[in-house]
Amino acid sequence: MSGVGAILIAQRTGFCYGVREAIDKAKEAAAAGKATHTLGQVVHNEGVIRDLQVLGIETVDTLDQVDRGAAVVIRAHGVRPEVVERALARDLEVIDGTCTWVIQEQRELARLVEDGYTIVLLGTPRHPEVIGLLGFAPDAIVVDEEADWTRIPRKKRMALISQSTQPPWKFERLAAFLVSRSHELKIVNTVCPVTIRRQEDTLAAARAVDLMVVVGGRSSANTKELTRLCQIVGTPAIQIESVHDLTDPAVFDDARTVGVTGGTSTPIEDLQAVAQRVLELAGTPEAKANARQLALAALARAATPAGRTTSLPAIQPAADQTGAAPGAATGEPTPAVTSAAGRGAP
Ligand code: SF4
Repeated sequence: MSGVGAILIAQRTGFCYGVREAIDKAKEAAAAGKATHTLGQVVHNEGVIRDLQVLGIETVDTLDQVDRGAAVVIRAHGVRPEVVERALARDLEVIDGTCTWVIQEQRELARLVEDGYTIVLLGTPRHPEVIGLLGFAPDAIVVDEEADWTRIPRKKRMALISQSTQPPWKFERLAAFLVSRSHELKIVNTVCPVTIRRQEDTLAAARAVDLMVVVGGRSSANTKELTRLCQIVGTPAIQIESVHDLTDPAVFDDARTVGVTGGTSTPIEDLQAVAQRVLELAGTPEAKANARQLALAALARAATPAGRTTSLPAIQPAADQTGAAPGAATGEPTPAVTSAAGRGAP
């Protein structure tokens, strides 16, 4: 029988802990009655931003948009130190949502500057995390694609460090390249372990299915990397921003089992919505009729409750959008479902 009969959500997907913490800090501040803002979008996900707005949390681009005395949440990417100084000078309450891993990167960078190394930072030049990191090492040489690397000068003492979400293979390749460019090379591996695990789990899912759907921001580096990895193992992959991008059933013509994964800023509820939509759009008659239950079952297999998006109880965005059971959105046990979908978790 033609049509998609099984759906698999990659393990350990959903928000990474850094993003989750920053969001929860913003929600806690709002729940405590503070006028709360996030400096920049806390994640590039319109659904999440809308839900935060409902709770009274506004996204601002600059500190000037925040009234004196109000709270401003620094997102997981972190900022340059002078941004915090400016916020405090304006009498704002600074709630630091910088991911602990990024804080570690910032400290390492400051140490390397102190020790006098010429620093090479592997990262996307205009990415907010990189902009923040440069506040700790203004002279660091930022490089991204391999074509950039030849402009790295030869120096006696060099240090290599990375933006958290860079692919580990690129970091290793750059390290090897720098061996020929320096006498002493210090390597500080700051590629985030969550990113690495996400890539491993996506690869495992991709090997088990006929087609992968990768959900995340179009400009998200870690999402693009997931798409690339699926293709490397020979599994066709499409990248979408949200469930609304899935309109053409023909995309799934040759697929019987479809996998779903997402970047570190993609809520797991979005993956469940995508799984359900794939089955509704291109499923076998049986899968179409049971799309929601099959998607919930795929979600339940995908991660332990602790590994899912945790949100403070006040908000359950995906449940509103998709009609999903409350447990699926909060990380509480999901309803028991029986399902013929998927090949089991990878
Ligand atoms: S990807 Fe890693 S470093 Fe970046 S916010 Fe998430 S947990 Fe932190």
